[in-house]
Amino acid sequence: MSINASGWRPEAPVSGGKASRTVTGNKALMLEEKLIFEIGDAETTGVDFADADGAVTGAGLGETPPTPSPSPEGEGSQERLAGLFRDTAIGLPGLSEPETVRHYTRLSRQNYGIDLGFFPLGSCTMKHNPRLNEKMARLPGFADIHPLQPIDSVQGALGVIHELATWLITLTGMHGVAMSPKAGAHGELCGVLAIRAALEAKGEGHRKIILVPESAHGTNPATAAFAGYQVEDIPATAEGRVDTAALIARLGPDVAGVMITNPNTCGLFERDMRTISDAVHAAGGFVYCDGANFNAIVGRVRPGDLGIDAMHINLHKTFSTPHGGGGPGSGPVVLSEALAPFGPLPFVAKQADGHFALIEEETAGDDHPHAFGRMVAFHGQMGMFTRALTYILSHGADGLRQVAEDAVLNANYILRSLDKTLDAPFGASGPCMHEALFSDNGLAAGFSTIDIAKGLIDEGFHPMTMYFPLVVHGAMLIEPTETESKAAIDQFVMALRSVAERAKAGDVSLKSAPHFAPRSRLDETLAARKPVLVWKEPVLAQAAE
Ligand SMILES: *Cc1c(COP(=O)(O)O)cnc(C)c1O
Repeated sequence: MSINASGWRPEAPVSGGKASRTVTGNKALMLEEKLIFEIGDAETTGVDFADADGAVTGAGLGETPPTPSPSPEGEGSQERLAGLFRDTAIGLPGLSEPETVRHYTRLSRQNYGIDLGFFPLGSCTMKHNPRLNEKMARLPGFADIHPLQPIDSVQGALGVIHELATWLITLTGMHGVAMSPKAGAHGELCGVLAIRAALEAKGEGHRKIILVPESAHGTNPATAAFAGYQVEDIPATAEGRVDTAALIARLGPDVAGVMITNPNTCGLFERDMRTISDAVHAAGGFVYCDGANFNAIVGRVRPGDLGIDAMHINLHKTFSTPHGGGGPGSGPVVLSEALAPFGPLPFVAKQADGHFALIEEETAGDDHPHAFGRMVAFHGQMGMFTRALTYILSHGADGLRQVAEDAVLNANYILRSLDKTLDAPFGASGPCMHEALFSDNGLAAGFSTIDIAKGLIDEGFHPMTMYFPLVVHGAMLIEPTETESKAAIDQFVMALRSVAERAKAGDVSLKSAPHFAPRSRLDETLAARKPVLVWKEPVLAQAAE
């Protein structure tokens, strides 16, 4: 294969009557896309013509800046901003409007999203984001306000925050809620800082250990360590739950608290939660619950009844606000009566006359004299509050309960549809909660979870969560959420079953999957260590193969 200087290949890209590639690298509607800096260059502009020689800058525009001094390069269009001058090139690629639109549209088509297909990523709760939520969040009264506006002019927004807070407190059976944390992990930090403040207030700041089960989400030990605690692991039982006896045995005067995910990351409900909470409290510690999986129990279980002191809620999981690609998330933390006085500022309070106030300072005398500080500059993710409240109101209390029931039903449908094909390590211990967990046990020698994940990409699915939780070898964690139809789940089950059978039979073609994706199997370690930051023509790479 000869390639001339322009990259154009004169030969027809056909072998044995079957097209194997195209000269552009495009595959029908699957279009290659360069980086934006490689499409346009900083010398070109798709908008303005260069000034004609000798043109007088700004003349005739009415309000010319005072004594416009010509810029160094003499480019006349530079003093647009109230007499301010740019003296270096802006360095942006100049593209025409259609080039710009196409660039971003093409990129968006290369992205897999919840609006495109089933997103079975376990632990992440990738549920449909209702358009109604978006519509409400975009109302100018919510979208265009500023956190420094006078309180009188944002009563509606404060009302939304207060109403959402009331729902969260009611749904969880807790005493208070800190609305401002901006993600689950941020909420964990908020909860652990409240625990620390409460311990310090009791003169027990010497408690330095936080117990975390082996199956915990990575953010739990990270949060505890970040807040200055030493983390100790608590083992899991053979049935995938916290080893309650081991946990209770470890309690003592050095333990500040425990962080337990419930439902846990194996997709199982921690049945001993009340026993654990009572033991932790008796030993002088606090109970943090990672509530990221609240969608499995919302409307069915009130964490407050389980003796929990602090729990974050991922609005971007349970309450359908968008996430992925970096957010924005929102992680309000509900607090027990013991911890609520230590929660962060500011918060919204409803006054006797129905007006909403923003409590920004600690004030002795009210019920909030011990705030540990602030988590964020202002009040949290207003757009997410509006979306979450819309979701809550459009479902109602009965609808929210059904969300949990349908999420659990869908996960059990997946578990039972696949437990004859894949190993379900805790399948024998009864139904799962909102996610189904499988291991790589039983695959052909040399095959692992990653081969199944790559095979699923060829079948048009985003892979499930892989190799997490760590307590299961080659874990595959699948979370359908309540928003998937039976037909969608059946199609996914069929695809996964087929790929799993290939992995069990040792089908070597699976080792090099995906075959139909724009790129095949990437060396992710190499990509992270030596990133290639320019687009490379794929035909060249493939011809070299
Ligand atoms: C998603 C998740 C978190 C972290 O939430 P972020 O919003 O991503 O910070 C913590 N714990 C569990 C169990 C989760 O699923």
